[in-house]
Amino acid sequence: MKARVAVLAGDGIGPEVIAEGSRCLAAVARLFGHDFELTALPFGGAAIESEGDPLPKETLAACLTSDAVLLGAIGGPKWSAPDAPLRPEAGLLRLRKELGAFANLRPVKVHPALTDASTLRAEVVRGVDLLFVRELTGGIYFGDKRRDAEGASDVCTYTVSEIERIVRVAARLAAGRRGRLTSIDKANVLETSRLWREVTQRIVSREFPLLTLDHMLVDAAAMHLIRSPRDFDVLVTENMFGDILTDEASMLAGSLGLLPSASLGSGRRGIYEPIHGSAPDIAGRGVANPYGAILSVALLLRHSLQLQAEAAALERAVADALAQGARTADLAPEHGRALSTREAGDAVLSRLRGPAAERAPAR
Ligand code: NAD
Repeated sequence: MKARVAVLAGDGIGPEVIAEGSRCLAAVARLFGHDFELTALPFGGAAIESEGDPLPKETLAACLTSDAVLLGAIGGPKWSAPDAPLRPEAGLLRLRKELGAFANLRPVKVHPALTDASTLRAEVVRGVDLLFVRELTGGIYFGDKRRDAEGASDVCTYTVSEIERIVRVAARLAAGRRGRLTSIDKANVLETSRLWREVTQRIVSREFPLLTLDHMLVDAAAMHLIRSPRDFDVLVTENMFGDILTDEASMLAGSLGLLPSASLGSGRRGIYEPIHGSAPDIAGRGVANPYGAILSVALLLRHSLQLQAEAAALERAVADALAQGARTADLAPEHGRALSTREAGDAVLSRLRGPAAERAPAR
């Protein structure tokens, strides 16, 4: 197939990890006979420097006409002063809004070779395979804000249709996995959460009757996630709860550098990025873990390009590399020499197999 991918490497380690993600995307195209056109575009702090805008017009236009957007990370000390007139983050929020990306997917899978890399005990994290679906464009982050001498307020609003569409995304994904959906809210206190719970119950019972649906209060979910994370399959929640819980869940896997994400709208186009930031403390040294970026490419293949076998082949190559000890410095360097970003990319590429190998019987 032919596909156009806008590549927004951004700042700090963004360009380093995206270089590996792009190499993997090009290798998938070669092995599976596709024609992917990758276009690099300025974004974030780098674009503030070169164009005076974190999301330049041409970058946005290219994203809106591409099949998918592959993004690295943005931000850094240079643009984070409290009085900074332009911030890289503003570009990211605008991009999500322009692309209508309301559903943020964050899979967290603990690789068997990495059960010792988490701060939690191996018997707690072994076998964890969960998927967070966070609502991304509503709730308290986007409500009216007010501040005066007496105090301040942030308004949290959700409409029925905003809840329906995110619940449908999560329910469809749960139906394709183990069939269990956990909806997280604070229905004992918040009106928006009571609405969330009612709508979720209605959508799932009418449209996805085969799913097992649980409702969990956000405080209980925070506890359950580190007590018995294997109990979860797909979790769906509103914007702020999701922001906090997805960072908590990311620690199950051992390193921020391992985890991918997808932000999807109502069509097929999506934004794919590792969950980590620009990591200015290690930028420019070639030591960043590229697996989160490479696994984001696998999500891009699966969700925007509908290339399931290609996505699975890339995920398998990362899993094989990890199983054979290909670790960057963030993943317990006492397990041998830590690989550079490029070497970790090479470790994946050397294990990536095309369709002929996929069909070949195991010997
Ligand atoms: P961060 O994720 O950049 O780094 C946190 C820690 O994790 C650092 O010690 C870093 O070295 C390490 N780390 C992160 N990714 C890694 C990787 N791939 N390999 C190895 N180690 C890795 O978070 P931060 O330090 O809080 O933020 C730095 C900058 O990134 C800030 O400007 C922040 O606003 C921005 N940020 C951007 C995004 C985004 O682009 N979506 C997300 C979060 C933070």
